[in-house]
Amino acid sequence: MSNVEFKRHRRLRSSNAMRSLVRENHLRVEDFIYPMFVIEGENIKNEVPSMPGVFQVSLDLFKEEVQEVYDLGIKAVILFGVPNDKDEVGTGAYVETGMIQQATRLIKKEFPDMLVVADTCLCEYTSHGHCGVIHNHDVDNDESLKLLAKTAVSQAEAGADIIAPSNMMDGFVAVIREALDEAGYTNIPIMSYAVKYASAFYGPFRDAADSTPQFGDRKTYQMDPANRLEALREAESDVEEGADFLIVKPALSYLDIVRDVRNNFNVPVVAYNVSGEYSMVKAAAQNGWISEKELVLEKLTAMKRAGSDLIITYFAKDVAKWLAE
Ligand SMILES: [Zn+2]
Repeated sequence: MSNVEFKRHRRLRSSNAMRSLVRENHLRVEDFIYPMFVIEGENIKNEVPSMPGVFQVSLDLFKEEVQEVYDLGIKAVILFGVPNDKDEVGTGAYVETGMIQQATRLIKKEFPDMLVVADTCLCEYTSHGHCGVIHNHDVDNDESLKLLAKTAVSQAEAGADIIAPSNMMDGFVAVIREALDEAGYTNIPIMSYAVKYASAFYGPFRDAADSTPQFGDRKTYQMDPANRLEALREAESDVEEGADFLIVKPALSYLDIVRDVRNNFNVPVVAYNVSGEYSMVKAAAQNGWISEKELVLEKLTAMKRAGSDLIITYFAKDVAKWLAE
């Protein structure tokens, strides 16, 4: 043995204290943005069947729900609306009485230092479930941009701190930036869903947000999961158009893309740990097949290691509790 030369890597793993000393990546409660679903109606708190622990909550019960998140130290939420009425042009997305607008006003009144990220899209409000206006059986890019800009401005008017456009229309950052600036919201940043893949991991979200497309799919606007260079093109144009944050969605199967985006751009990178990534863990945990806490901490840490600064995750409340233990 004495003639063989090798390195002793185990020296730095010898004890808990030693491992803590050399640990490269950490989760903090400040890293998390918690998604919340506001549903129209009264006295409603529906657990989403495919997402145990995630609820659609009506406005009258919403304050209580936000209080819990706030008390756990989570200081940013992203809001999705679930309205009763939908139409061809997604009116509910940009009216003053929209679900996101009302929920935003409530949060900013009750919890002024809670950051509200407004998801800016039309699919929860359109009768056809697509993310824009339909012409000739396809989503019309430029017509949809007008409504998206209107949605962003109405969310800013309601008090949203960050606008997060998610519909993957070309030019959405440019058009929203211009509309916000014209309306006087030059200080409101844009968190762009810059790199959003057409993913099967979104399945449970569509239950939660009631936003399943009624025909076709989203592959003409969301990205092909096989593509990597395309992610850089998408991110590049959004940065040029004025994006302040870049989201990569989904996260877990796309950590290579998170790293690419981190290495190529100097804005905060956000990993969206999507519904399917949540539901798989919950289902396995309910069956006793995995250790939920260890697995969740491992995968969220992997997102940090891949280069994300922030993580949008349905696990935020769970992790906040575990980190405080
Ligand atoms: Zn959408």
